[in-house]
Amino acid sequence: MIVSTNPATLQENGRFPLSDAAAVEHVLDGAVRAQRSWRETSPDERAQLLRNIAIALREDSGNLSRLITEEMGKPIAEAEGEIAKCAMTCDFYADNAVRFLSPEYVQTSAAESMIVGDPLGVVLAIMPWNYPFWQTIRCLAPALLGGNALVLKHANNVVQCAMWTASVLERAGAPSGLLGVLYLGNEEVERVIRDRRIAAVSLTGSTRVGSIVGAQAASELKPQVLELGGSDPYIVLADADVDLAAEVAAKARFSNAGQSCLSPKRFIVVREIADRFVERLLGHVAALRLGDPMERDTTLGPLARADLRDELDHQVKATIAAGATLLTGGGPADRTGHFYHPTVLDHVTEDMVAFREETFGPVGSVVRARDADDAIRLANRSDFGLGASIWTRDLDAARHHVRRIEAGAVFVNAMVASDPRVPFGGIKRSGYGRELGLLGVRSFMNVKTVWIA
Ligand code: NAP
Repeated sequence: MIVSTNPATLQENGRFPLSDAAAVEHVLDGAVRAQRSWRETSPDERAQLLRNIAIALREDSGNLSRLITEEMGKPIAEAEGEIAKCAMTCDFYADNAVRFLSPEYVQTSAAESMIVGDPLGVVLAIMPWNYPFWQTIRCLAPALLGGNALVLKHANNVVQCAMWTASVLERAGAPSGLLGVLYLGNEEVERVIRDRRIAAVSLTGSTRVGSIVGAQAASELKPQVLELGGSDPYIVLADADVDLAAEVAAKARFSNAGQSCLSPKRFIVVREIADRFVERLLGHVAALRLGDPMERDTTLGPLARADLRDELDHQVKATIAAGATLLTGGGPADRTGHFYHPTVLDHVTEDMVAFREETFGPVGSVVRARDADDAIRLANRSDFGLGASIWTRDLDAARHHVRRIEAGAVFVNAMVASDPRVPFGGIKRSGYGRELGLLGVRSFMNVKTVWIA
């Protein structure tokens, strides 16, 4: 049985049965059947389905947003933003269907030679709870456009979001089985990964689970995309607009209660402007409103689960014990629910837990750097390599710095965010493969060379 619990009130949302062996067979067979017909559809037909999904998402936004907030606790306005982004992404792939699926002609010695993309088959998507609709749509929209079917194994704490994703597809007129949903304990997932009906695997989740799932898929020689954890650096150089950098830092770090893979977890600030950055940051943190995420003026909801809050608290305490300065917050809020006070740690150094590990919650760590070179050295001194942000008024210098930063994306004078027009993914222990953009479609395609002599 899966129990869905509201992290703000600790009341049960509901109990739902796990998929039994017969249900797993039904979903996998259904996905194979649906994909056989779907692969024959034209780019226009695929685009039409994606447009219908966007419409269904927008029509039901109120209900879907409430489900997100009830199951994982993000403030309702952020949940609405998540649904809007899902719809916009479906429209983006619909608008670009013909362009992304057209053959790419190449000049060779052949009479005609080209690169075409064929679908791989059924993709298993193992998804996390932090953006329960967005993470799924980010994988689903390009995968369906590429002619694949999807089987979703969602995080069990957002079981209703998984069910309603299926319902959105149904209302959009998706062929039965094109999105199958499995409700599984983690020990059951391996059998599905190894099942011959699954052609490829996409996991968004922690680095720990990434290495388990990645090993299982690799041993079956199945292609995979692994979108894993991060400890993104947010570099503020001496000539930056410090006030703006601090304002954006607070937004980037504390939205979704800090539970975002590409949220900046290490503010690496050059010493001469660090005091000012910290003062401004604390001002924005003080303005956060922790409370009931269903209320519109709440800007900080609870963490999604008790174990996540406890783990975060352990990381904060260990970092303080190692010599960091606690400037604000530093513990769970004294109220029902998994709330944690917004926390800022200063003088965090590279040997400390908050520097080395991913802190998945409302905790910002300020790391003081000597100069730009030291800041980039510190940024790269991480096992992770998802996103990075760098703040400077010198754009020529910025163009040079971005190439030295070890990350899948570098944003200059902006927070890192995913955008369907550009690829998204990490390096190092943040995973491999790319979602979104054209690469997101190609991730689950057989990129086939055609040579006509
Ligand atoms: P997680 O514990 O790794 O879980 C991710 C998914 O894997 C869930 O569906 C989970 O199911 C499932 N799972 C857990 N153990 C498994 C196993 N042994 N075999 C197969 N599946 C298993 O991650 P999370 O706590 O949900 O999400 C937070 C993590 O995701 C953070 O590290 C964050 O940085 C990362 N993330 C990365 C990105 C990105 O794009 N790079 C985006 C968002 C989040 P259950 O939850 O039911 O156990």
